[in-house]
Amino acid sequence: MIHGDRLTKSTLRWGMVGGGKGSQIGYIHRSAATRDRYFELVAGAFDLDPARGRAFGAELGLNPARCYPTYVEMFAAEAARADGIRAVSIATPNNTHYAITKAALEAGIHVVCEKPLTFTTAEALELQALAAARGLIVGVTYGYSGHQMIEEAARLVAEGVLGEIRLVNLQFAHGFHNEAVELANPATRWRVDPKFAGPSYVLGDIGTHPLYLSEVICPDLKIKRLLCARQSFIASRAPLEDNAMTLMEYEGGAFGTVWSSAINAGSMHGQKVRIVGARASLEWWDEQPNQLRLEVQGEPVKILERGMGYLNPASLADDRIGGGHPEGLFEAWANLYYRFALAMEAQDAGSPERVAGLRYPGIEAGVEGVRWVENCVRSADQGGVWVDYA
Ligand code: NAD
Repeated sequence: MIHGDRLTKSTLRWGMVGGGKGSQIGYIHRSAATRDRYFELVAGAFDLDPARGRAFGAELGLNPARCYPTYVEMFAAEAARADGIRAVSIATPNNTHYAITKAALEAGIHVVCEKPLTFTTAEALELQALAAARGLIVGVTYGYSGHQMIEEAARLVAEGVLGEIRLVNLQFAHGFHNEAVELANPATRWRVDPKFAGPSYVLGDIGTHPLYLSEVICPDLKIKRLLCARQSFIASRAPLEDNAMTLMEYEGGAFGTVWSSAINAGSMHGQKVRIVGARASLEWWDEQPNQLRLEVQGEPVKILERGMGYLNPASLADDRIGGGHPEGLFEAWANLYYRFALAMEAQDAGSPERVAGLRYPGIEAGVEGVRWVENCVRSADQGGVWVDYA
């Protein structure tokens, strides 16, 4: 890396549940976790179909004896080994996250879990208490937060460059599901089925991503009440929504909006964050993640570029290749996995204070994502009314 390599001397023995062959998100977990050699993949229960999971583990070069039919067998067998796994990543459909995370924590294993962490806030809080009681780390893969320019945005707000924050304008609105693609695509089918997806589709699947970015950039903003309206433009998806509009009033008077959508026809990813302060605004778009737009009232627009010396040292610390060469989602995820590893190692060494201030989406982020979805659904299902944030 341009600011010092990160290759570690020790690796965390690591397993995966889900993320099997052909899954959408398994590959980026493996790529990000092993990029700086902090995690070494040694075990897996990769697939709902045990034979397919075992074959995939063999393809990845794993010891066949450590490719398990289920996560239950994996956690039991790995606990019995002197060289058993210290950490596991969970990349399965939403309905399984609570049970698998709970089982991992009970087996004494650190966790990286996909979002949404659980179906209900009560379940998420239960996992938070369990992780605290066992002294274990739970990371949640809000992967976009690993982009350098998100760190830079957070620094600019913290330094007061924007002035008092007035508006938070968020969207994650893609167009890939503008038709009933789930008829032919199993990975979309479970997302629109409440048994597997939970109480929402786009709110939990994508809306929570920019929401978490706003929590990183503006950590002082606390939602006071919100109003959400949700629609199923593909009628067969009801009661789950493929589009939702959320208004949020924060303590202190700032105001926010979140557009979550899978039917924004023609849009690729459409994840954007715009923060408006009393003096200046900033804007970031995940399709051009190396740039951050800073607009100071009365001055020409500035486009800040990743990897440049004028950025905050904390943003530059993540730089791998220098300005000009594009970095992307794989690097952002690797930055997060690096921090997950530091937190896990510090926890195991009995020195969590060593990583105090380390910024990564932990279990609090998982809890907050689930809480936000729950509040949005409560508002929407009463006909789109203001509800106090609970
Ligand atoms: P997918 O349907 O493409 O793949 C799911 C994988 O999990 C498959 O390999 C399946 O066989 C396996 N699986 C299912 N149940 C299992 C079980 N009980 N034990 C072991 N393996 C099991 O799904 P996906 O799109 O990869 O999504 C997986 C999770 O990742 C979801 O929770 C989704 O919300 C999340 N996700 C997150 C991001 C992100 O940006 N963080 C992006 C996409 C998906």
